[in-house]
Amino acid sequence: MTLDDGAISRLREHFAGALLRPADPGFAQARAEVLWNGDIARQPALIARPTSNEDVAAAIRFAREQGMAFGVRGGGHGFAGAAVPEGGLTIDLSRLASVRVDPEARRAFVGGGAAWAAVDAATAEHGLAVVGGTVSHTGVAGLTLTGGMGWLTPLHGLSCDNLVAATLVTADGRTVTASAEEEPELFWGLRGAGTNFGVVTELVFALHPVNPMANLGMFFWRPEDAAEPLAFARDYVFQLPADASALVAGLSAPPEPFVPEEVRGTPGAAVMVASWGSPEEHAALVEPLRGRGAAFELVTPIPYTALQQMLDGTAPWGIRAYDKGLNLDDFSDEAIRVFLDFIPRRQFPLSFAPIFPLRGRFSEIPDDATAFGSPRAGRWAMSMVALAPDEETFAAERQWARDFYAAMRRYAPDEATYLNFDGFADPSRVRASYGEEKYRRLAALKQIWDPGNVFRSNVNIAPEPAPAAAVPAPRGTVAEVVEPAG
Ligand SMILES: Cc1cc2nc3c(=O)[nH]c(=O)nc-3n(C[C@H](O)[C@H](O)[C@H](O)COP(=O)(O)OP(=O)(O)OC[C@H]3O[C@@H](n4cnc5c(N)ncnc54)[C@H](O)[C@@H]3O)c2cc1C
Repeated sequence: MTLDDGAISRLREHFAGALLRPADPGFAQARAEVLWNGDIARQPALIARPTSNEDVAAAIRFAREQGMAFGVRGGGHGFAGAAVPEGGLTIDLSRLASVRVDPEARRAFVGGGAAWAAVDAATAEHGLAVVGGTVSHTGVAGLTLTGGMGWLTPLHGLSCDNLVAATLVTADGRTVTASAEEEPELFWGLRGAGTNFGVVTELVFALHPVNPMANLGMFFWRPEDAAEPLAFARDYVFQLPADASALVAGLSAPPEPFVPEEVRGTPGAAVMVASWGSPEEHAALVEPLRGRGAAFELVTPIPYTALQQMLDGTAPWGIRAYDKGLNLDDFSDEAIRVFLDFIPRRQFPLSFAPIFPLRGRFSEIPDDATAFGSPRAGRWAMSMVALAPDEETFAAERQWARDFYAAMRRYAPDEATYLNFDGFADPSRVRASYGEEKYRRLAALKQIWDPGNVFRSNVNIAPEPAPAAAVPAPRGTVAEVVEPAG
């Protein structure tokens, strides 16, 4: 939609941050910085970069007055690109990205537009950390508000399990803080369905002492050699001590000096183990993975912040991306066979399939303690990620991810998935992932905080009773999460 100058001038009176329209210098750059997924071509009519809660409230009010669809950009890594509605407003929180650490209270105060790298750097300085994602340029808010899995998950649960408070600007422009003491039901909903109730401008995390020096063990097998090691690893990772973590992945061998030249870029399966004890303790921990025919292995001490950045290069900004996700109760021999059959079929070396073992602290937290949308009883969360630089390769890669998902689906107990691992999940899948009871509780909460469903460019919870007929559809196309054609 085209915005008239008068409306923009009126917005400027209440908005101290930057406002960019397509004709403005800097707009193209700003749009390029909004979304990580280069496959999303939508263009907003306005990018607003607020610098305060008041700015956020003004932007929401403006969008509502104009009948304009809007999306919120935290770190821009949502696969569906929900932050950009075609012809609508992007509320880009990149200027609300400060990170402050209170080491005595063991708290981190993180802006809604921050990325994990900034949090890890600020907390590591004090020998503290919070559960973040495995790629440090990913956004804190989007990851946390829908869950958040990373290396520290077996030790400390999901990112959202470590959230102790959040400040948000709601659909009606109010600034609200939610915690166990204030608005506890909203606080519950924010930890798993948190993109639904407002623009979260600050997240407060509990921090844990974490040795700034970690250890990594990475073992990589060619597909034809990987069945036995993966069958071994499916039990081994669940027997690791509580202060160690593991990740299984189908991926290409990285082009690194520690990888034999002829193996670099070739597909295979890896088991990665991180721990925080001495190198000797770590060596003993990974010893059982040795002697199983790995094409290469790397066992090394690594600073925790470097561990957090180790996979950054596997997901470059602007690449085209698509993902599917599912949960597995058992990584059976047959599931392993299908997994190993699909891994070498990807065409672009960066496409990969991580499988997170769900154990330790993650599994101890009761299902109803948070709104996290996937059963805690699940043992593995899997994602099939298609990445490619150009349209043609991407079309094939996306089909690969869809076929891979269809083949693995028969080993999943149900439709539930970790919703941050399935960017284009449709409403029925979203509902199935939360489960009926949790979904209804969330829908009732949504009815209180956002009855008009103005926050719908997300993993959406529809308010119940649904007021759809009473609310006029916004102009501009909402960046509703829809499966891409092709
Ligand atoms: C390269 C890569 C690596 C990943 N690794 C992991 C991983 O290790 N572990 C894991 O759990 N997940 C991982 N993910 C998935 C990730 O959690 C999701 O893609 C998540 O949505 C990214 O959040 P974001 O803030 O960067 O994205 P955005 O695109 O900015 O936002 C995603 C959604 O959250 C909403 N949102 C964002 N910020 C706010 C806010 N402040 N207030 C209200 N709503 C907001 C948006 O409106 C949108 O609906 C990864 C994704 C990528 C692309």
